[in-house]
Amino acid sequence: MLACVLVFGAAVPLLTPARSEEIGIFGALVLCAAIYVETMRRLGTAPGLTRGLLGAWWFPTILLLPPVYSLIIPIPVFLLLHLRIRCAAAHQRVLGAASVALSGFTASMVFHTVLTGDMTAAVGAPTRIAQEVLTTGRGVFLAVLCCALFIAVDRSVLAMGGRLGGVEPPWQSRPWDREAVMVGGVELCVGVTVAILAGISAALLVLVLPPVLLQQRSLLFQQLQTAARTDPKTGLLNAGTWEAEAGAVLARARRSRISVAVLLADVDHFKRVNDAHGHLFGDKVLLDVATTITHQLRQSDVIGRFGGEEFAVLIPGADTAEACRVAERLRVRVAQVVPRSGEVSATVTVSIGVAVLGLHGDDLVQLLTAADLALYRAKDAGRNRVCLPVIRAPIIPPQQTEECEPAEEPGAAVRRL
Ligand code: GH3
Ligand code: MG
Ligand code: MG
Repeated sequence: MLACVLVFGAAVPLLTPARSEEIGIFGALVLCAAIYVETMRRLGTAPGLTRGLLGAWWFPTILLLPPVYSLIIPIPVFLLLHLRIRCAAAHQRVLGAASVALSGFTASMVFHTVLTGDMTAAVGAPTRIAQEVLTTGRGVFLAVLCCALFIAVDRSVLAMGGRLGGVEPPWQSRPWDREAVMVGGVELCVGVTVAILAGISAALLVLVLPPVLLQQRSLLFQQLQTAARTDPKTGLLNAGTWEAEAGAVLARARRSRISVAVLLADVDHFKRVNDAHGHLFGDKVLLDVATTITHQLRQSDVIGRFGGEEFAVLIPGADTAEACRVAERLRVRVAQVVPRSGEVSATVTVSIGVAVLGLHGDDLVQLLTAADLALYRAKDAGRNRVCLPVIRAPIIPPQQTEECEPAEEPGAAVRRL
């Protein structure tokens, strides 16, 4: 990809006439980006929290200037990012810069080709054409489409590059989650607005710089808030947040008199996985188990990482039979997943304890305690199974009392103790 960018970088300038007006706009955009990077540094951007609004400076370059400028602008900006904010390795910065260059060039070529009606003319298209078209509804619509194309290409390249190189910061592995899409939308709106204003006069960049910096501040706040609520390895709610959210859902369910179940799932013999393949592979297993469990649940269920290799799920509306069905499905699905990292792969199983409101406990603490006891029973009985806790003596019919037995087929794994 880098080679691709270098080839374009060498060939395209020959076809692009240097015009002083365009060089002036380019210089102003680089200056704005430099001030932005400096502000990011002062705000103290944490590693992993690198989503920002740099699109505010990429998009005017893509839309207003000939495509060659989109190839060049990432060089000074990423150099500054690397020198001033040291939270990414050099190869990550190179990947980021190459991705922005390639995506920016593609989006700019598409935009200018549609404007000029000719791909060759697009390479040297003067800023004047874009300035005029950005004052029309059709022009703005086209600009939005091209900027969306930039975001799509950039994120796909980053996610792919990260995966190929084994570099997967949490946000890059989920480039299309709700928050990523929202940040992309904000970036797009801000970038196109800056492009329209800069098209009227480059001097207007002075007016847009403060709101963009403020917007960056509020994005950072939101990202820090999300980071404080979630577990960084799995992206699930952390234990404290899970308890708060599960408690609120439980209270609502009790008021509405609907049943609620709590599941506690623990990966079996997880220490052996760590010992055999290392902790990094263990982390990958945790992520895959978390993702598998999440995919089996509804939006209204509350899932969190409860401890090291333990996951807690609160299922509103589930009675004993339904809770056991869900737990059994989770158990079977987890056993089918093959976490892989390079040459290494392994399978794991989970044991699951189930507790139901009113039957095994009357509040969250009691339900967790009961689910934990059931989990211990499942472990004692051989693991890879779903168990209910001992039901209070007067409630349980004698014929339902049964010991957990090793799971041979999915249905056989649910046992009452
Ligand atoms: P059991 O079937 O009885 O649950 O056995 P186990 O080996 O899963 O349980 P044990 O409590 O003996 O070991 C849990 C292991 O989980 C030990 C700890 O190093 C590992 N662990 C806890 N948190 C993490 C984590 O975030 N990443 C990795 N890789 N390992 C973790
Ligand atoms: Mg375990
Ligand atoms: Mg455990």
